[in-house]
Amino acid sequence: MGEFELIRQYFMPLARLHGSRSVVLGPGDDCAIQSIPPGSDLVFSIDTLVEGVHFPAGYRPDYLGWRALAVAASDLAAMGAEPDCFTLALTLPEADEAWLRDFARGLGRAAESFGLVLAGGDTTRGPLTLSLQLHGLVEQGRAIRRSGACAGDLIVVSGTLGDAGAALDYLDACSPSEDEQSVLKRYHCPQPRLKLGMALRSLATAAIDVSDGLLADLNHILEASNVGANIDRAHVPVSQALARLKGDAAMDYALNSGDDYELCATIPEARWASVPKSLKQQLTVIGVIEPASGLRLDGTAVVSGSEATGFDHFRRKI
Ligand code: ADP
Ligand code: MG
Repeated sequence: MGEFELIRQYFMPLARLHGSRSVVLGPGDDCAIQSIPPGSDLVFSIDTLVEGVHFPAGYRPDYLGWRALAVAASDLAAMGAEPDCFTLALTLPEADEAWLRDFARGLGRAAESFGLVLAGGDTTRGPLTLSLQLHGLVEQGRAIRRSGACAGDLIVVSGTLGDAGAALDYLDACSPSEDEQSVLKRYHCPQPRLKLGMALRSLATAAIDVSDGLLADLNHILEASNVGANIDRAHVPVSQALARLKGDAAMDYALNSGDDYELCATIPEARWASVPKSLKQQLTVIGVIEPASGLRLDGTAVVSGSEATGFDHFRRKI
C-alpha cells in the first residue's frame, strides 16, 4: 500500500470538514486553510509521542489513536479553547494495514468525540512516532493562562486523581480485577475536560491540565503567577477503586502521578459562590493561593526531593 492510498483510505475519513467552524480546505493540497472567525483567537499546541518513551512498545493501536488525541486535546481544555482541527505527522516502521485500521478507528472516535477534524498531515517511514498539532478557538483575549492566579483564590480540581498513574502497575495484568480495570480505563482512555475548560473561561484566573502530577503541575501555575499555595491533603479527590487498590499510598498517587488529564484551576473565592451547581459538582476545592511563594501541604512546605519531585517514581515503566 502506497503513501497516498494509505492516507486516502485511513485518514481522509477523519477530515469531515462540516465538523469545523473554520477549516476551508482540508487534506489533499499543499497546505490546509483555516479561516479564523472575526473576534476569535487561534489557540494551538503540538505534542509528540515516541514509541517506548511516551507509550509502551507494542501498545494497542486503537488505544494509541484515542490517547494521542485525548492527551493533546487536554491542553486545549486547560486554556478553555473550543477544539476545531488538527494535523497529524505519522512516522511508521511499515504500512501494517491491520495496525493502521485500528489506529485510525481509535483516532477517529476521539476526533468525533472531541469535535476535531483532521486538516492535514505528513506520513513518513521510521520508528513509530506521532506528532499532533491541535487548533482551538476562543473569544479574543479570553483564553485561560497559567499566570493569572491571585492570593486568596481557591484551588479546584476536576474528577479524581491518581488512577492513571496507578494503572501503570497493572498494564501487564492478564486478568485485572474490577478495580484494576477501572484505573486502567483512566490510562488507556483519558477524557479531556473540554466542556469544563470552556465553562471555566469566565470563572478561572488560571488553569492547567494535570499531566505530570498535581503538585508538579500546580507548581507551574504558582511560578507563572508568582504566588504560593496551601493544599489540604484530606480534600484531594481519590477514587474508591484507587483507595481500595493502594490503601495509604493512594494519596501519593493522587499528588504525584500523572496521566489523569483532569483540570486544576484557580477561582476567586467571591466568584465561587456564584458558580452554577452543575459545575460545582464537577470540582473539588483542595486549597488556596497564598502570597508567600512555594507549595505547602497542610501548612508544611513541600521540599524538593520529597512530594514535589516524587512523580519521577511513577514515570512509565516501559
Ligand atoms: P507535500 O509533499 O506537498 O508536503 P504530502 O505528500 O506530504 O504533501 O501530503 C499530501 C497531502 O496529504 C497533504 O494535503 C497532507 O496534508 C495530506 N496528508 C499526508 N499525511 C497525512 C496524514 N497522516 N493524515 C492526514 N493528511 C495527510
Ligand atoms: Mg507540496
